[in-house]
Amino acid sequence: MLDLIPKPRSRFLRVQCPECGNEQVIFGCPATVVKCIGCGRVIAEPRASKGLIKAKILEVLE
Ligand SMILES: [Zn+2]
Repeated sequence: MLDLIPKPRSRFLRVQCPECGNEQVIFGCPATVVKCIGCGRVIAEPRASKGLIKAKILEVLE
């Protein structure tokens, strides 16, 4: 199951892909769709005021 975490953060997030387990750092408010570098799964989508993160957030980087 996906956890859609509605936290409006303009920060970098360390996330883990729910598909392949790959970890990567993405921007919390992406301007474009962000895909997993491991498997190509969409892990973040842009929204009007915040990003929609579709991966497990491991850490919020200040
Ligand atoms: Zn992946």
